[in-house]
Amino acid sequence: MELMELAIKKLKERGVEIDDICELTYDLQLKYSSNLTKEICKEELLKVLNKREVLYAILTGMAIDKACEEGVFDKEISDIINQDDPLYGVDETLALSIVNVEGSIAYTNFGYLDKIKSGIIGKVDEEGKHSSKCTTFLDDIIGALASATASRIAHKEK
Ligand code: MG
Repeated sequence: MELMELAIKKLKERGVEIDDICELTYDLQLKYSSNLTKEICKEELLKVLNKREVLYAILTGMAIDKACEEGVFDKEISDIINQDDPLYGVDETLALSIVNVEGSIAYTNFGYLDKIKSGIIGKVDEEGKHSSKCTTFLDDIIGALASATASRIAHKEK
């Protein structure tokens, strides 16, 4: 299976659809790009996903979440990741390798989404808190993808 297909499949298995991510990008960027449509968001998101570095980050983050659920790691670190300790920070850092690809506008959007946790990010975050699922890396991956896509759209405007 192609890596991009695999990443999309893994996201889907975790209840995250491409359209959910597009929704976040649309909300971020509509103010600045008046002709924006969800179709454009999707087109650009697929371009973000078409980079190996991005796919590696998605698959690595999701693999860590899963490994935590399955108790693969030592309890000490597993507990910290499962609790999504605000001082952990490795989840955000890994997601930054997605954000990096699209530059500074992506950074500010990423920070913003991490604060407001709108749409699918909030849903995934809550799921991590109230179930045995670990979504510590997943929420940042989603935020990074939506932010990187918004940045791509912003750069096309000029
Ligand atoms: Mg997180």
